[in-house]
Amino acid sequence: MSILRLAIPSPLRRLFDYHCPEGIDPLSLKPGIRVLAPFGNREVIGILVEVAQSSEFDHNKLKSASQILDDTPPLPAHLFKLARWSASYYQHPEGDALQQALPVLLRKGQACEYQHETLWRAAEGACLSAIKSNAKRQLEALQLLLDHPQGISGDAFRAEGGQTATLKTLQEKQLAESFKREHKQHTGPILHESPLPLNDEQDNCVKQIAQFDGFNACLLEGVTGSGKTEVYLQAIEKVINEGKQALVLVPEIGLTPQTVARFQQRFNVPIVALHSNLTDRQRLDAWLQAREGIARIIIGTRSAIFTPMKAPGIIIIDEEHDASFKQQDGFRYSARDLAVVRARSEEIPIVLGSATPSLETLQNAIEDRYHWLKLTQRAGNSSPPEFRLLDIRQENLSDGLSPQLILNIKKHLESGTQVLVFLNRRGFSPTLTCHDCGWIADCTRCDAHMTLHQRPAHLHCHHCDKQAAIPHRCPECNSDQLQPVGVGTERSEQALQKLFPNFPVIRVDRDSTQRKNAMQEIMNQVNSGDPCILVGTQMLAKGHHFPRVTLVAIINADSGLFSADFRGMERTAQLILQVAGRAGRADHAGTVMMQTYHADHPTLQTLVQHGYSAFAQEELHNRKMAQLPPFTHYALLRAETTQNGRAESFLSAIRQQLEDDMLLPQDAHWIGPFPAPMEKRAGMHRAQLMIYAQNRKALHQLLANLCWYLEQNKESRKVRWSIDVDPADTF
Ligand code: ADP
Ligand code: ZN
Ligand code: ZN
Repeated sequence: MSILRLAIPSPLRRLFDYHCPEGIDPLSLKPGIRVLAPFGNREVIGILVEVAQSSEFDHNKLKSASQILDDTPPLPAHLFKLARWSASYYQHPEGDALQQALPVLLRKGQACEYQHETLWRAAEGACLSAIKSNAKRQLEALQLLLDHPQGISGDAFRAEGGQTATLKTLQEKQLAESFKREHKQHTGPILHESPLPLNDEQDNCVKQIAQFDGFNACLLEGVTGSGKTEVYLQAIEKVINEGKQALVLVPEIGLTPQTVARFQQRFNVPIVALHSNLTDRQRLDAWLQAREGIARIIIGTRSAIFTPMKAPGIIIIDEEHDASFKQQDGFRYSARDLAVVRARSEEIPIVLGSATPSLETLQNAIEDRYHWLKLTQRAGNSSPPEFRLLDIRQENLSDGLSPQLILNIKKHLESGTQVLVFLNRRGFSPTLTCHDCGWIADCTRCDAHMTLHQRPAHLHCHHCDKQAAIPHRCPECNSDQLQPVGVGTERSEQALQKLFPNFPVIRVDRDSTQRKNAMQEIMNQVNSGDPCILVGTQMLAKGHHFPRVTLVAIINADSGLFSADFRGMERTAQLILQVAGRAGRADHAGTVMMQTYHADHPTLQTLVQHGYSAFAQEELHNRKMAQLPPFTHYALLRAETTQNGRAESFLSAIRQQLEDDMLLPQDAHWIGPFPAPMEKRAGMHRAQLMIYAQNRKALHQLLANLCWYLEQNKESRKVRWSIDVDPADTF
């Protein structure tokens, strides 16, 4: 008797056995297909993992699967394998991991096929003279169709001010026709524009990548402005010439429309960009185009790592150090790390690019596991920015700005260039406090202060999203002397606007860019080239090219120097250099001024005087001494409950159980449990247990044991727990 073993999205880390639906030959079923099956009192979509000959459960009690949804598995075999592997590597329930590897519509059971969009175009030979000159609407509509010879969708037509009824009228007059959009294989030339002539370093990188045959991982370490994108473009060109596809992962698409635009400008082949504005339908269509080999370049964020390719040619991870490649909840995978695994299984090269590589990747390059390609010079005519620390001890700051900084901003604006002011806090001010008694507006649900926002005026917790009205009087002493303390982007924007009334001040943070296209509009304004001040958060640090910015001012990055997280210093250094890298990216020399209370901090000194490599070397040395990643492998077991102290005692009990049963492998160790650095968040009390090992095998053996105990333990149903393998942070 054949049994279908299904991976079903459930918190349980096991497969579920079913009988095959009647009338279907189980041996005709391929692993990876979707199967509808009863689960509890619902029907769910499971993925067939294998057809087994028997079940360890009572055959008479097994249910029958209801329906087979696919003939062919949606995921090609090697991606199916990758998704399964990642579930086991990240200790995540397989059913959920497999679902997450699929587009949303497939998770919901829709057919794995296109829904071709209906488009409109002018009928052959249709011309405006066929319409009476007083029929304005029809004339406009036909003109619009003539302007879009490839066809225009009904939505796009209406967005341009047209009416569907007019299209129908034109159709009756045989001047317009509708048709279904087909996705066709590319023909014709590959390029729209000729590639840039490369400098020697770039040329060397492109040549080396071109020589890779089969799997090869390489770190492309290129200082900001060194022209990494041009290297990607030319490496991809070769791949496309060979009839293959390229997958490009970037940290954020919405924020960097320029990146996608540069690919579209260069290549005359179908490109799909998997950004968050796509509808589920558009996403599935794009995914299918990739799977069928029609899309030749696929650009996406983290989740795009599971996009199938018919003819995989290369994977590129831009800004590989970026923490957003690691999913921070649920299925906690690292798209960067999975990309390397994928490239190996598909036998293609992978390029990890960054000006500030993660220490993990750097260590891989140092140990020769990755090729190490370098771009040490800026491309074109631009030179590296000059870096200056402004010691602000005993300085009189106004709204966070030192007199010297204000003077320099003025100088740059008046010379006709642009200034970028960076501070990593949105809102008006990070705290609201009572001048009389010292009360601080705290979040009731988190160990955190509420941030004061002015537009719209409210208090906002950036950790749990709780919002509250601004009190008029102190709730402790009834004083009306409530004062904002500290500077956020809103406040900085206001202060700068007051100081420089003749120049536009443009704020870029999560609040100011929520509207669709907001970022694009901001970019357009900046690209117009007129002097202005850009003030914003790390959003400004990510891969933008602002050719007219000559001064980058870092208002306050000190807190990062003293982070409780062992990666704090690495992240701070990356952020500082990425922001700094926005200065002087064209013909104008750039200056970076960083305000600090710790101008003699040794690490800061190394970074500023000797650059990222020197910093990284020191930091790697520290990590080695402290036996921290990349020199050891670790995972966090997190737990949270509404009751104070319970998460910690739960973790202690689990630890004790494993120790009593002597299930701790020899090379594995643990620290804790201890309270999370932010003990209370969103009303939950949180604790964690840190587990580490010299070798991965020992770590994974321990984690597997741990999972088993966690699933058996009665208490674990009352506690929310999760395992984070290779965590990006410890908060
Ligand atoms: P980054 O390495 O920071 O990603 P970019 O790829 O954004 O750098 O390149 C920075 C600028 O240098 C861009 O305007 C790009 O067009 C230009 N550039 C890149 N390569 C060359 C080249 N070989 N010759 C001239 N300009 C170049
Ligand atoms: Zn008070
Ligand atoms: Zn909160």
